[in-house]
Amino acid sequence: MADRLSLDHIDILQTLGTGTYGRVRLAYMRDRNQFIALKILKKLEIIRHKQVDHVISEHSILQMINHPFLVNLLGFTQDNRYLYFALEYVPGGELFSYLRNLGKIDNVQTRFYAAQMTLMFEYLHSLNIVYRDLKPENLLIAPDGYLKLTDFGFSKVVEGRTYTLCGTPEYFAPEILLNKGHGKPVDWWTLGIIIYEMLAGIDPFNDEDPMVVYQKILKGKIKFPRGFDKGAKSLVKHLLVADLTKRYGNMRGGVNDIKNHKWFASIDWYKLRQREIEMPYRPFVHSPDDTSNFSNYPDSATQTSSISPRDDPFLEW
Ligand code: AMP
Repeated sequence: MADRLSLDHIDILQTLGTGTYGRVRLAYMRDRNQFIALKILKKLEIIRHKQVDHVISEHSILQMINHPFLVNLLGFTQDNRYLYFALEYVPGGELFSYLRNLGKIDNVQTRFYAAQMTLMFEYLHSLNIVYRDLKPENLLIAPDGYLKLTDFGFSKVVEGRTYTLCGTPEYFAPEILLNKGHGKPVDWWTLGIIIYEMLAGIDPFNDEDPMVVYQKILKGKIKFPRGFDKGAKSLVKHLLVADLTKRYGNMRGGVNDIKNHKWFASIDWYKLRQREIEMPYRPFVHSPDDTSNFSNYPDSATQTSSISPRDDPFLEW
């Protein structure tokens, strides 16, 4: 369980990223001599947008999880305006920026990343947590080149199916679009999308118009660019399957159908989990407070409106 934070010992520094209900800032914990990422969420905005349940779920999931490929929670606190989540600071930046800079990622490196994502989902699903929002923006690169998954705002403990529409349009699985109820298999679908996106540089159902994206997803026809690795293509085809009984990760073999797929034949899963394999790319991080791998954000004005304890759904935390 994460510690109760005391803001008295924390210096809040520059913004690393923004989300819908607040922002994530670099911060320094003086008592622990440690840099952290402080996720600061505005209570009033969360209530206004009816996101209280999602935030409650994010908080309880962050308390449940502990895994080397996930951004773990170090502490939590609140005041009458904000919620504060102290997270491990991952200084290598978002996979999103890395991928946009490079255009695409080569087969060997994509395979390492995809293998780590497979282990992330294996762990989360073992706790009945469905992540529901895999995308390059939510994957951060640690100094040793390994990935860490962040933002559990859409994650949910689900046994069976859930019906809330959430995620990112290009990554929606067909069962989400058809409102059939969805569960763990949506994460395996998004793994297929991200493998394709890393190797091809664009997502497989890409279009400017979201309605066309949805039509393409439902049609399910995938065009692979020339040079797309054959093994990767085979795995993607087993993941981007609308029929849940035929989607890898959701069949009798479970996650082993994915781990034993020929594209992953060279992966030593134990060594990978132990971070014993040297990654082909390590970000340039020159100090523990280096933020050069993140974009610059203007500072935000402090919110003046506070919330009365009577209307505060988070008070008992
Ligand atoms: P979130 O609202 O959780 O999606 O976070 C918004 C952005 O803040 C992310 O896309 C990252 O750029 C950044 N961020 C979130 N968590 C961390 C972290 N633990 N370390 C470094 N940057 C982070």
